[in-house]
Amino acid sequence: MVKKVSKIEVPSWDYSPSLESTSHIVLKEKYDLYIDGRWVKPHSGKYFATVNPADEQKLADIAYGNALDVDKAVKAARKAYNEVWSKMPGSERAKYIYRIARLMQERAREFAVIETLDSGKTIRESRDIDVPLACNHFFYYAGWADKLEYAFPNRKIQSLGVAGQIIPWNFPLLMAAWKIAPALATGNTIVLKPAETTSLTALLLAEIIDQSGLPPGVVNIVTGYGDTGAAIVNHADVDKIAFTGSTGVGKLIQKALAGTSKKVTLELGGKSANIIFDDAPIDQAVEGIVNGIFFNQGHVCCAGSRLFVQENIAERVVEKLKQRMETLYLGNPLDKNTDIGAINSKEQLVTILKYIKIGQKEGAEMYQPVCNIPAKGYYCPPTLFINVAQSSLIAQEEIFGPVLTIQTFRTVDEVIQKANNTPFGLAAGVWTDKGSRIFNLTTKLRAGVIWANTYNKFDPTSPFGGYKESGFGREGGLHGLSAYLK
Ligand code: NAP
Ligand code: MG
Repeated sequence: MVKKVSKIEVPSWDYSPSLESTSHIVLKEKYDLYIDGRWVKPHSGKYFATVNPADEQKLADIAYGNALDVDKAVKAARKAYNEVWSKMPGSERAKYIYRIARLMQERAREFAVIETLDSGKTIRESRDIDVPLACNHFFYYAGWADKLEYAFPNRKIQSLGVAGQIIPWNFPLLMAAWKIAPALATGNTIVLKPAETTSLTALLLAEIIDQSGLPPGVVNIVTGYGDTGAAIVNHADVDKIAFTGSTGVGKLIQKALAGTSKKVTLELGGKSANIIFDDAPIDQAVEGIVNGIFFNQGHVCCAGSRLFVQENIAERVVEKLKQRMETLYLGNPLDKNTDIGAINSKEQLVTILKYIKIGQKEGAEMYQPVCNIPAKGYYCPPTLFINVAQSSLIAQEEIFGPVLTIQTFRTVDEVIQKANNTPFGLAAGVWTDKGSRIFNLTTKLRAGVIWANTYNKFDPTSPFGGYKESGFGREGGLHGLSAYLK
């Protein structure tokens, strides 16, 4: 029988909790360091708060690891390397890595919600991109662990030893996976430091690693801020540093390692060009532009932050882009309809707003759609700058926020020159109907990754890394393995 519900009657059913509900998440009040297979208190006795940038509420206290804690972690990693991990056959190492991947998959919802709470990125992104990709990296590299001699035929396979790994806040879990999975597959042991504002998913990963039965000391997670990362870089018994972060810190690390025998890979900043030719499918290209810079609040090293549009279609593209920007929904990152979540930290918001002011001062025309900015939390509306000069700061420096500069071009040569004219060289996007044009550009653009008629697509089998000040060394694919072998 159909019950008639009058206007004022409250329906008598409850909705089941949404996938994004936080009811299944258990956060500890305090997180210690994960060293030698145990949770240990930091030497300093100090803890720092991690907050939810969407509402500025504290989520938990995180241990501050100093040089003494790093030393303890490196010693544990060395012992595990010498006694267990370097001697274990690849097929046995693979079992652990597969187990970690499966455990991560089982707790994928938890990972996604915690990632969103701690970082401010939208649940759509953490649920559909970060977590599945992180799992896939573990699955992919698990597959290589017993096949290294096929990956590198006629070469003696030798691991490096203890790897110090330092990661940023924009893809906290994914960056941990990029670092840990290939290092384990190749037989190295690890000391990893997450970024100050986003330690929680690395700590949940530590719980899973513990649950997987991985021998103690093989993976150690030392949280911290300030000089914690430098303590890893400067530790005498670390054989390799794998760093992802800003170009500024990357340069400091390279200086610190000069003259040592430590191996290093640096994955640094970017100012990537997204290039639209007049024969491109315009509507798809507009989606690609939005996906390239506005989703994840522009917190993407390879964000398509410089748009180059062929002059004869520029007006049409800008008009369509503005219309699309009006439909973007900014707000609670845990809402699955949200397109633009919170900026990761107050400091980062200040930096972005500083660049927006610079852009206005430099004389570019600014456009921001009308957005309801939540009263609490760190938010920045998607921002467009039109008529930007090639030399302007907003077209040259990495902003790491939802800010897009637009320039026009007439010829292929002109756009290649403009696109290459930054200190960076991480990624680029090319939108055109002509295959020959794509191949022409891919050979001339100085960027590590070039997408054709799409943007921001990742796969564990595909290497990733930069030219120039975007760093050196590759992660992902076979290249990612060789970075952890002698
Ligand atoms: P960041 O400030 O360079 O920090 C990165 C990591 O390094 C953090 O864990 C940080 O710790 C640590 N650190 C800071 N100073 C250090 C030092 N002197 N020695 C050793 N470690 C140190 O970068 P971020 O702001 O977190 O991340 C954003 C940057 O990462 C952007 O430039 C982005 O383009 C880049 N990124 C690049 C890629 C790539 O694959 N190329 C991928 C993602 C991000 P604290 O957090 O405690 O300061
Ligand atoms: Mg946080």
